[in-house]
Amino acid sequence: MKIISVEALVLRMPEIDVGAADSTQDALVVRVHTDTGLVGIGEVDASPTVVKSIIEAPPSHAISSGLAEILIGEDPRDVERLWQAMYEGSIFYGRRGVAVMAMSGLDIALWDLLGKSLDVPIYRLLGGARRRTIPAYASTLMPDTPEEAEAHAREIAQQGFRAIKFGWGPLGQDADHDVEVVAAVRRGAGDDVEILLDIGFGWRDADHAIAMCERVRPSRPGWIEEPLPPDDLVGYAKLAAAVDVPIAAGEENTTRWEFADLMDRGRVDVIQPDVTRCGGLSEARRIAAMADERGIACVPHSWSTSIIQAASLHLIAVMPQARYLEYCIRPNPLNTSLAKTPITVRDGVAHVPEGPGLGIDLDESQLERFAVHA
Ligand SMILES: [Mg+2]
Repeated sequence: MKIISVEALVLRMPEIDVGAADSTQDALVVRVHTDTGLVGIGEVDASPTVVKSIIEAPPSHAISSGLAEILIGEDPRDVERLWQAMYEGSIFYGRRGVAVMAMSGLDIALWDLLGKSLDVPIYRLLGGARRRTIPAYASTLMPDTPEEAEAHAREIAQQGFRAIKFGWGPLGQDADHDVEVVAAVRRGAGDDVEILLDIGFGWRDADHAIAMCERVRPSRPGWIEEPLPPDDLVGYAKLAAAVDVPIAAGEENTTRWEFADLMDRGRVDVIQPDVTRCGGLSEARRIAAMADERGIACVPHSWSTSIIQAASLHLIAVMPQARYLEYCIRPNPLNTSLAKTPITVRDGVAHVPEGPGLGIDLDESQLERFAVHA
C-alpha cells in the first residue's frame, strides 16, 4: 500500500466570533489517500491555514520539508517510522508547536488507515481496550453572569452529565466575579456533579492563583485548569505545591519532551494532551504512559469535531487509568455535523467506536458546506 496524495481541508463557519475562545468555529481535516482506494482521516485543532501550509510546503532541503512530501510514496501502515520521518524531515523549522500539531493530524490518519487495512478499530492496535464506555464531561464556555451560569449548569446536569467544565468567558477578569460565577455553577449543577474550571491563563501569577484557589474552594472544583500561561512552569510548581485542588494544564503542549517538563518542573496534577496537537496518537500514547509512571492523571483535551472525539476515545480506551472524555457541547454545526454517525453521549457516557480505524465516516456534503477554497 502506498500513499498517493494528502489533502488538507480548511473548514470554517460563515461567521466567526474572533473574540471568543472557541476553537469549534473552524477546523482542519486531513485525508491521506492510498493506491488501494482506502482513505485515512485526521484533524488538527490549530490555525487551519497555517497547518495547511506546513502540510503542503515544498521541500527546502533535507531536514526542512512540508509533511505531505515526506509521506507520498510511503506505506501508511508504517505509522511510527513515518512519525519519525516527519519529525526529522521538518526539524529545521519544527520540533514543537504547530509543526508537531500538523504531524498529529497526519499520524491520526495513518492509524486510521492501518486499522482500515486490517479491518480492526484503532484501540485494538494500541494494545486493546480496557474499557468500552467512558464518562464524558460536558465542556463549554463560562457565561457572563451568575444567573446565566447557574441556569446553564442546571440544564447540562439535567442532560445526564456527571461532570461539567466551564472555561474562559469572563473568568480571570475580576476576582469577585470569578467567585460569584463559580458559586452559581455549583448551585446549578447540584451537589453530586463534578465541576471543573478552565481559567484561560486569567489568574495573573502564582500568588494570585493561590489566593483564588482558596476563594473558590467552597464550590469544590474538581480541578483548576490553566490558571497561568503555559510557559510559567515555575509558577505552576509554586501553585501546585501550595493548594489542595488539582491543577490541570497541557493543551498547548507538543511532544513527550514538553510534557516531561510540565510534569517534572511544573508539577501539575492533571495533564491534558490533545491528540490533534501533541503529536498524534503515537505521541499521546507515550505521554499517557509517562503520566502513568508518575502517578499523574491524563485527561486528553478534545474540543473539536467527531474526529478528535473518536481519536481521543481510542486513546482513553487503552490508557491504564482513565477518568473522562472531554465532550465539547458548543452547538456549532461545523463541530457537530461532520461525521455521518457523530460521537454521542447518553447518561453521561460515550461509547468507543467499534468500526475499522477511527470508526467514523465523514459526510461529504458537510465537508463541502464548510470548505474554504483558497
Ligand atoms: Mg482548556
